[in-house]
Amino acid sequence: MISRALISDHALKVLYRLRKANYQAYLVGGCVRDLLLGREPKDFDVVTDAHPDEIRAVFRNCRLIGRRFRLAHIHFGDEIVEVATFRALNDDGEGDRQHGRDGRILRDNIYGSIEEDAWRRDFTVNALYYNINDFSVLDFVGGMDDHKAGILRLIGEPEQRFREDPVRMLRAIRFAVKLGFTIHPSCADPIPKLAHLLEGIPSARLFDEVIKLLLSGYSVQTFEELRHFRLFGLLFPETEQCLAREPDGFPLVFLAKVLERTDERIQQNKGVAPFFLFAALLWEPVRSLANAKMKAGDTDVYAYQEAASEVLNRQVRSVAIPRSISLTMREIWTLQPRLERIKGLKPFKLITHPRFRAAYDFLVLRAETGEAEPELANWWTRFQEADEAQRRVMTREGGGLRTGARRSGTRRRGPRKPKASKES
Ligand code: ATP
Ligand code: MG
Repeated sequence: MISRALISDHALKVLYRLRKANYQAYLVGGCVRDLLLGREPKDFDVVTDAHPDEIRAVFRNCRLIGRRFRLAHIHFGDEIVEVATFRALNDDGEGDRQHGRDGRILRDNIYGSIEEDAWRRDFTVNALYYNINDFSVLDFVGGMDDHKAGILRLIGEPEQRFREDPVRMLRAIRFAVKLGFTIHPSCADPIPKLAHLLEGIPSARLFDEVIKLLLSGYSVQTFEELRHFRLFGLLFPETEQCLAREPDGFPLVFLAKVLERTDERIQQNKGVAPFFLFAALLWEPVRSLANAKMKAGDTDVYAYQEAASEVLNRQVRSVAIPRSISLTMREIWTLQPRLERIKGLKPFKLITHPRFRAAYDFLVLRAETGEAEPELANWWTRFQEADEAQRRVMTREGGGLRTGARRSGTRRRGPRKPKASKES
C-alpha cells in the first residue's frame, strides 16, 4: 500500500494534469520502490505516453532538456518533477549510451509502450508503475514479488545487462545496501568477473556514481561491498593497492572512521564535503608517496605537493575528480606537514588559512586512528581555544612536542580493525 502523504504535491499535480489532458501518467522507478517501503523518495519520476512537445503544451513551467533523449522538467520553485515519454530501448538513464561503437545511438529516440518502457529498465524493483487514479501498481517484470522478498534482480539476462551498461554493477551495490535487499545470486555472481568493464565508462560518469555511493548514508557498508565485489579497485586503484598491502592496517581503520563519520553526518542532516571524503580516500597513496620522496631528499611540503599531483593525475583516469574538489584536497594534504610546525609565528598564520579547519579535522581523524601523533592534534585543539598570551607561550615552548617529520618510516600501529557495522 502506498501512502499518498509521502508523494510530493507537485508530483501529484503533474500526474493529475497529464491525466486531465487525456494522457497516461505514472510514477515510476526509485520513487515507487521507496514508497512501497514507506520511505520518502528523494525525487519523483513521471512517465507518460505524451511526447515532449505535448508535455510542454500542458505545462507552463516546463523545460525540455537532453539532446539525444528529450525529457521534460516541470519546475516548482526548487523542486523539479521529471517527466519522460515511454521509451522502447535500453538506456543508462544518463543520456550517454555505451553502444557508440556500433552506431546504435540513433535508435535512442524510439518511443514505446509502457511495457517496453519497463523492459529497458535495470532492476525489477525499479520497473514498477504507480497509477494514482486507482492506486494500482503495474508490474510487467515480477518486481512486486522481488520487492516483497527484498531481492534486487536485473531484468533479463544478467551478464548481458551488465555488459550493456557496467554502471549497473555499482547501482546494484548502492540499492542493495540502501534498501537492505539481497542481490540475487544470478546477478551477484558475475560481478567480480565483469568488474573490469568499468574501465570503459567515462570517468565523469563514474564520479557521479561514486558521489551517490559515498553520500548514500551507508558508505561504510557500501565500501565493504564494493571491495567484496572487486569494484573498489577499479574506482580507486592505488587506494586498493595500499589496503591490500596492509589488510588490517591503519589505512583501513582511517577510511572506515571517515566513512562512519560521513554516515553519521548524513543521518543528522549535516553537510558532507566531498573534498574531505576524496582527500581521505586517497590519503594513503599520497602519504606513502610523499614519504618516499622525503626519504629521497625532498622537503616535506614539496614532497606532498608532488605526491598529490602524481596521485591525482593517475586517479582522474578512472574517476574524474573536478578541479574545484581536487584543489581543496591538495590543500588539505599539503597542510598536513605544515601542521607539524608549531613553533614561532607559523601557527598564527596557519590558523587563518581558509582550509585550516578542514586540515585540522583531517589531522584529528589521523590521530584517532593511530597514524598521526595524538599530542599534535591535541596541541592544535588547545591552540584554537587559547587566547593570544597563551598562544605565545605554546608556540615558544612548542607544547613540549617534538617537531619536524615524524614517523616517516616507522609508524604507530593503529587500533585493531573495528568490526564492520552490519546494520542497514
Ligand atoms: P535513486 O534516485 O533513489 O538513486 P532511482 O531508481 O530513482 O534511484 P535513477 O538513477 O534516478 O535511480 O533512475 C530512475 C530510473 O531510471 C531507475 O529506477 C530505472 O528504472 C531507470 N534507470 C536508471 N539508470 C538506469 C540504467 N543504468 N539502466 C537501466 N535503467 C536505468
Ligand atoms: Mg531517482
